[in-house]
Amino acid sequence: MDCKKLLEFIVKLDVKTMMGVLILGNLALAFLTLRYYLYHESDYEKNLIQRFSIAKILQATAWIFLFLRGEISDIVSVYFGNVLLFISFYLDSLLILTMNKKIKMIWFRLQGVLLTLSIILFLVFEILLGTGSIRIAMASLGVFCILVIPNLLNITNSQSSSFEKFIGSINLFFLILLLLRAFNSLFNADISLFTNSFLQSATFLLLLLLMLVNGIGFLLIMYERSYELLRVSSNLDPLTQIHNRRYFMNKADAYYQRALRGQESLSFLFVDIDFFKKANDIYGHLFGDEVLKIIAKVIAESVRPVDLCCRFGGEEFLILLHATNNEQAVLVGNRIRETIQNLVFEENREFKCTVSVGIYSGLPDSEKNIQHFIDNADQALYRAKESGRNCVISL
Ligand code: GH3
Ligand code: MG
Ligand code: MG
Repeated sequence: MDCKKLLEFIVKLDVKTMMGVLILGNLALAFLTLRYYLYHESDYEKNLIQRFSIAKILQATAWIFLFLRGEISDIVSVYFGNVLLFISFYLDSLLILTMNKKIKMIWFRLQGVLLTLSIILFLVFEILLGTGSIRIAMASLGVFCILVIPNLLNITNSQSSSFEKFIGSINLFFLILLLLRAFNSLFNADISLFTNSFLQSATFLLLLLLMLVNGIGFLLIMYERSYELLRVSSNLDPLTQIHNRRYFMNKADAYYQRALRGQESLSFLFVDIDFFKKANDIYGHLFGDEVLKIIAKVIAESVRPVDLCCRFGGEEFLILLHATNNEQAVLVGNRIRETIQNLVFEENREFKCTVSVGIYSGLPDSEKNIQHFIDNADQALYRAKESGRNCVISL
């Protein structure tokens, strides 16, 4: 199909039919998202899904009013239809802002101002002039003003995912077309809602596409977020919120290979709390959990971002120090041991916590593997316990 035929095809598309599809499409989206809502657990996401559904129902209602133009009173069709459309896009805009990470309150307030201005200006022009072309221009301009800022913020926000930016860019493209439609209507006096023109048909075609892109996009972004949340939490220990053993073992291999290539020394440190069973017996398990959280925090803060640490199990923590020789590792081990020894626990001030640390350092070679380093660090820890605890021993 050549370009001319495509243009003719678009011009021939019936605006009223497309409006009907918009009504059914928005209702279908509301139904689907409400179904999704019923089976979702996170309160934050439930709130977003609920708001999305309400926006879609309002939008479908607005299109019904506009669809019935000529059949029902103009006051209901024109006034209610357009004001509802503004409100539904306003709800969409708030949703985009809420989904944007780290967004300031001022932008939400600005949206309220833009909605009010759009409604007032639309009604004033409608009452004073009341022509079809002015109406289309004001409606298009209103929707443009309500949606442009949240989408621009979405695209420029460095925390948005590439998918969110993609959806934002499509929206912005649509908004620019809407602005063209507004100016075209202003300078084209005999245009009305059901007039067939390229810009008119193309706008409705884009509205349909937009409904699909936004609807599917919204659900996919929800899935993307749930997946990301799950991915991050599957790498963390639920109690201490530091990495778990699974994450450590997955990452350790890459560290080992890098050290092997660069012929850099690696150090593994096992940290085990002394007589922790007794602490649990005396002060209770809940206090024991609090101690574990604090110790985990001390350990995580004692290593560099390039190092790895995890809760290996129970009251044992494992640290991998990148490009670190034994001498440096002993310094780190002693620093951790002393910091923990000096901790004061508010709940039980008389409780003193100490740890034993076992270290194994060396240059990786193709004969050894990570397990060799871990086994030796464990052996060193055993010796630290044998030597009376609250000490650092390296093999
Ligand atoms: P040692 O100095 O030889 O290490 O003695 P220990 O008592 O620390 O060692 P042992 O391995 O005998 O006991 C470890 C204790 O750690 C047993 C268990 O009650 C406690 N523990 C393990 N995981 C948790 C946890 O998640 N919360 C709490 N509160 N305690 C835990
Ligand atoms: Mg212990
Ligand atoms: Mg232990």
